[in-house]
Formats: sequence, C-alpha cells, structure tokens
Amino acid sequence: MSFDFSPQLRELAEKAEGHVALRFKAIEWVSLKNTEKVLNAFSNHRVADTYFRGTTGYGYDDQGRDKLEEIYADIFGCEAALVRSGFVNGSHAIACGMFACVGSGETMLSLTGNVYDTLQTVTGQRGKLGGTFADYNIGFETVDMKDGLPDWSEIEKRAADPKIKAVFIQRSRGYGIRHTLSIDEIERLCAIVKRVNPHAYIMVDNCYGEFCDTREPTEVGADLVCGSLIKNPGGGLAPTGGYVAGKKELVDRAAARLTLPGIGAECGASLGVNRLFYQGLFMAPHTVAQALKTAGFCTALMGLLGYDVTPSDDRAGLDIIHTVNFGAPEKLLAFCRGIQAGSPVDSFVTPEAWDMPGYDDQVVMAAGAFIQGSSIELSCDGPMRPPYTAFIQGGLTYESGKLGIMKAVQSLLDEK
Ligand SMILES: *Cc1c(COP(=O)(O)O)cnc(C)c1O
Repeated sequence: MSFDFSPQLRELAEKAEGHVALRFKAIEWVSLKNTEKVLNAFSNHRVADTYFRGTTGYGYDDQGRDKLEEIYADIFGCEAALVRSGFVNGSHAIACGMFACVGSGETMLSLTGNVYDTLQTVTGQRGKLGGTFADYNIGFETVDMKDGLPDWSEIEKRAADPKIKAVFIQRSRGYGIRHTLSIDEIERLCAIVKRVNPHAYIMVDNCYGEFCDTREPTEVGADLVCGSLIKNPGGGLAPTGGYVAGKKELVDRAAARLTLPGIGAECGASLGVNRLFYQGLFMAPHTVAQALKTAGFCTALMGLLGYDVTPSDDRAGLDIIHTVNFGAPEKLLAFCRGIQAGSPVDSFVTPEAWDMPGYDDQVVMAAGAFIQGSSIELSCDGPMRPPYTAFIQGGLTYESGKLGIMKAVQSLLDEK
C-alpha cells in the first residue's frame, strides 16, 4: 500500500483543489458559525466534567444525558430533544418521530416522494406487518418530486386536505436520484404547509444535513427533526445512537415510543457514552466541514477526469453525499477498492459486490471505519447496475479524505 501517486494525478489534484478554493472558504465560514453555536450552548449550560459520568440500571437522574438533550434543543433552536444510544440507528429515531406525529385514523403526507428504504417497512409499504402504520390504521401518502425538487403546487393542494395530520420532509437526497433540499427550500415548504394546514405537524428526516448550513430545519418552521449519531452530529466520535429534536409534545411522544408510555425520557442508562456524545457534538461542525471539503475535492477531481458527478456546483454543500457515474462495473469496483485501500481500518480488505438483503441488484461497499457502518467516515457504495453510480460520503479529516479519493482514482487509472 502506498500513497505514491503519479505526477499527473498530483497535478490534477492540485488543479481540482484550485477549483474549489472559494467553496472551501464558504465551508469554513459555516463551520465557524456552527462551532460558535455549539460553544455558546456548552457555556450556557455550564458543561463540566461531571456530565461525562454515566449511569447504569434504570438511568434515573442522568445529569449528563439530560443536559446534553437541553444543549441539542438549544443548537436546533427548539424546545426539547432526545439524544440516546437506545436509538439503534437513524431510522429508529425517525420512526419514533413519525409515530409521535400521527396516530390511528390519521394520515401522514410525504412532500419529498417516498421515504428512505428502511422506513418503508415502518409505513407498511414493504415487508411484513407488525407494528407498522398499516397495522395501526395510519395512512401514508406521498407527493412525488418533480425534476428532483418539491412539486410546489401539488404540495399546496394535497397538504390542505384536512385528513393530513402531519407532513414528512426528507432533507438529504439519501441514496436517491433527487436533489438535497436547501434550508431555504425547507423554509418554503414549511410556510406552504402552515398556510394551507396550520395544524399539521412538520417533521424532517435530517440525516446527512446537520451543520451543512448555519440554520437547521427547526429554525425555519419544522416541528421535529430526527437523525443518526453515526452521521453528522456525532462528529465521528459517537459510537452509536440517534436523536430527535423539536416541540416538547412531540419529543415526549417519541420518548414514549422509544421506551414506554409513562417512563419516556426518564429512563435509559447512558453507560459510558456521555463524553463521546458531548465531544462528538463539539467536533461535529468541524468534522462535517471536513466531509464537505472531501466531497468538493472528489467532485472537482472526477469532473476533471470527465466523469458525470453530482451535486453540481450550484447545489454543492447542502449535504455530505456526492455521486460519480462510472458507466462500467469494473470501474465502480476499482474505485471502491481504492477507497478501501486508503482507509485507516481494514485497508487490506478487497470489497466485492454482494446480494445485500432488501436490494434488487448486487451492491458494492467500501468502508474502513472506526465505527461500524459510520458514514461520517469516508465510505462509498454503489448498486451494480447502469449507470454504475458510486455514492460517496464522509471523511473525518480533509487530509485523509483527499488521500482516500486520490487512492481511489489511482486504482481506477491502474484498472485500464
Ligand atoms: C442514513 C439515512 C437514514 C437512516 O439510516 P440508518 O442507517 O438507519 O441510520 C434515513 N434517511 C436518510 C435520508 C438517510 O440518509
């Protein structure tokens, strides 16, 4: 293994960095603003060493856990939050948020097309029944996106229906063919819903979007946001977990879903994660900036090499995901293998395409992460079907992200 790149690749990399120099400045500015927000919240809540101690057993009076939740609420500009290792992943936090917003006989309307794959089993569209929306007689409808953006006029019509008790917005593109929404676009969606159906709750799947902007959806009209701690807000340090933040009544209901009615947020031993959650949140604005720079570098470099990439310059930096179309299976594989070889962990492993449960095509994945499945760390995956697109995200440090991307490109060039 070596990072002994050819002079041509080094030159291209320098050129790519030149192209994104201004964008890097903008990313650093957002990171500075968000760091200020985080430091202010830490200071206002008088964070001290004692907060890093955990509880065991029932987890009553976990001062560190409870304070961290107040700090999240401050940062997200809302009333309350739940930040728990008991959320097994982002989908779990989002599902608890969904059940907080709608009850039996009510309907949720997604404004951004269908929900993320792992949530389609929650709405009851896929998989077996068992505690799903369908089981509880909760309706679920979608408004498809138009040219990758919200279908504004259709949303205005459909959201006005009095049976709609809550709307759902997915901020990031996830692994779909659509655009990631800007905070201004989320603000516009919230304004439409509040005008045509003022009593409907607005919830946002915030995965991959946290700290990409100086404002979060809860600061522009959303009632609830949910996400994963092994993505942006965990800062690469949180070992597991998820969060929900928003109106107190909704956070309380999500807590009752996470634990049980009557106990809610009162229980849940933090064991040893408090310090990592605090330190991860402290790091998060900076870590997200590292991932955004890695994304900027990758799309610029791959663009120079003639590949079709997203996001385009005019929509860059809205989340940490970017894509490259390779047009051929062996190129996608070679790129993924290079990403793996450039990773700090499991660099000796060779990724192969495999039949991943729940997917129609084989999928190839590259990840050499300190935390299993963590996608704030440089990682990449792609379904083995035309146009052989790699979805790439993360990078704990820009330096390692850049080297990882260059290693992938070297592997791609050597493949020819
Ligand atoms: C990652 C992600 C989720 C949640 O995924 P988990 O793997 O369960 O953490 C949900 N929605 C979007 C858009 C995502 O990117």
